Amino acid sequence: MPSKRLHAEIQHHPTMVIWAFVVLMSACVLGLVAWKATLGRNTALTRNEEDVQNLVHSLTQHAVHSFQAPDVAMSGIVDLLKYRKPESAARLTAHLASTVRSLPQLRELKVLDRNGEAIYSSAPTLAPHNNADRDYFLFHRDNPDTGLHISGPQVSRTTGQPTIALSKRISDAVTGEFSGIVVAAIPCDYFREFYRSFWVGEDGAISLITSEGTVLVRSPSGSAGRDLSGTPLFQTRLKQTNAGYYRITSPFDGIGKYFGYEQSVRYPIVVTVARSEAQILGAWHQNLRWDALVALFFLLVVAGTAVLLARQFRYRSHLEQSLREREERYRLLADNIADIVVVLDAEGICRYVSQSVHTALGMTEDMVVGRSCLALVHPDDREMVARSNQLFDGSGATRTISFRVQRPDGAVVWLESNFRPAEGLGTGGRETVAVLRDVTQRKLLEDELSTANRRLAQLATTDGLTRLANRRSFDGFLRDAYAHNSLLSVLMIDIDHFKGFNDTLGHQAGDACLRQIAGVIESVTANTGGQAARYGGEEFAIVLPGMTEAGAMEVAEQLRQSIQKLDIRHPAAPRGRVSISIGVADKHAACANDIALLRDADIALYHAKDTGRNRAVASSSLRARETVSPPLADLDLAGQVRRGPQP
Ligand code: GH3
Ligand code: MG
Ligand code: MG
Repeated sequence: MPSKRLHAEIQHHPTMVIWAFVVLMSACVLGLVAWKATLGRNTALTRNEEDVQNLVHSLTQHAVHSFQAPDVAMSGIVDLLKYRKPESAARLTAHLASTVRSLPQLRELKVLDRNGEAIYSSAPTLAPHNNADRDYFLFHRDNPDTGLHISGPQVSRTTGQPTIALSKRISDAVTGEFSGIVVAAIPCDYFREFYRSFWVGEDGAISLITSEGTVLVRSPSGSAGRDLSGTPLFQTRLKQTNAGYYRITSPFDGIGKYFGYEQSVRYPIVVTVARSEAQILGAWHQNLRWDALVALFFLLVVAGTAVLLARQFRYRSHLEQSLREREERYRLLADNIADIVVVLDAEGICRYVSQSVHTALGMTEDMVVGRSCLALVHPDDREMVARSNQLFDGSGATRTISFRVQRPDGAVVWLESNFRPAEGLGTGGRETVAVLRDVTQRKLLEDELSTANRRLAQLATTDGLTRLANRRSFDGFLRDAYAHNSLLSVLMIDIDHFKGFNDTLGHQAGDACLRQIAGVIESVTANTGGQAARYGGEEFAIVLPGMTEAGAMEVAEQLRQSIQKLDIRHPAAPRGRVSISIGVADKHAACANDIALLRDADIALYHAKDTGRNRAVASSSLRARETVSPPLADLDLAGQVRRGPQP
């Protein structure tokens, strides 16, 4: 559970991870620098300790050797003088001079008598001063010890230079009384020059000190003669061990130093070497500064990268947030509009459908998602929709098709669908978004409207009683046929004595009779390629394109006989049965237009009436007679034939 919580925390606060990383990296880098620094410091100090201790030991050995040779030489002279005076002063003086020449550290070797006067000397001439006041003289006069005494530094009365005095008491061999001393003078510069050849740093120092704490020589600076007996070196350290190494604050300059010392077991001298801490750790400090700079640079790079990453994370999380919000908004929209939003993949499989599929189609999302979109389509429309699947041709255009879908409850719903490649999803057009709208109501209204329109169109061209074409339609057909056919015939048909029919049998019976006759006219015309129409009242007309007058006469005769066969009772007709009269005319050379053709047919009909009714008369037969008799009819202004008296 804690790891889940941590995971959620990281998801919500990704920058936290970055800063944790920065802190970790910083800790690692600083730890590394600190570890390297500690290691470097310890190494520098350890190396310095070894160097200093080696140097101290070598310098102690050097000091011992520097004192040992004079010590041996002086012992010989003391042995000689404690028994008797030398027989030849010149020989002793020569011996002293030869000893000084062979020992470069010595400036002078001389013998003082019990009053401090120089009696023999390696120098060419004896110095005139008395040395009875010198510390070493007083020491030997009052101390029977015959060992080597080291004292100084003192200013030489001969050269004026600081000097270390090595002295030995001469005791009378018989009485043991004080007889004088042998003194060897070593210039302090001998040691200082030697010590200068060792580089111990600017604040470092090499000192040669007596066991009592008096500084004999200090290099590079002076301070010779200073009493160090009160320092921890002489108070504690030398009492514990002859050699050592530790950190001090220099009594000379107050600087922190690492300090090595060694006391000779042979002579009462101590050699010390001190190096300042700053000197020892100088290189280490330099390295540390570079390391710190590199670490700082690294940390700055890490911090800079972290800032950039944090910004990027913030930007991305802001982007994700707004994308999430936008998707939720779209989903809300898609789920709450009446339209159904569907996303199809390249294979036409539904990958998403909005919740509105439930209200619109009564289906759940599970019934749609994962299935082919064609499976939803009504079987009768499936082929049409499949054909329209060029919508997946990648052209990018929006396509609209309408199809039916059968709801689970059996009801059929008409859907209008807009398909569009889902370019916005970044799928490269491999997905398609379809918006489906329920257009069932609209479809029903469209169907009703088209039915009504069809009906209206039919009404506009059809006679309501007989269902034949009406006069308007007929006129149009005739005009068209006349214009396009060189061979054309027209039949004008009139029911005989129809007024009487109405008067005797009633108007409704008259209508029924009209329908019956219209039916016969239609069936007779059916196979002729012509058109039959109710011309008005109880008159009918037939246009027969491509038919000669003779052919038309045959049709007329067939029609007349068919009516006769109907055998409709007509009480007001002389024959007692309904009959028709027919006028036939064709398009001939003298015929000016369709109206003239119709007039010819009408004139022929008039003749049929006039000559007994129940017959067909051809217009051509009338034209032949016109040459021998006056016109048979007067035309009114509309070009219609005025019928003659009825039989
Ligand atoms: P003719 O033999 O000379 O043609 O005599 P007719 O009586 O048929 O001619 P007339 O022109 O005198 O009379 C035509 C009659 O047709 C008058 C009218 O009552 C009748 N008629 C016209 N239209 C209709 C209709 O739509 N229904 C009915 N029942 N009768 C109609
Ligand atoms: Mg009539
Ligand atoms: Mg009539």
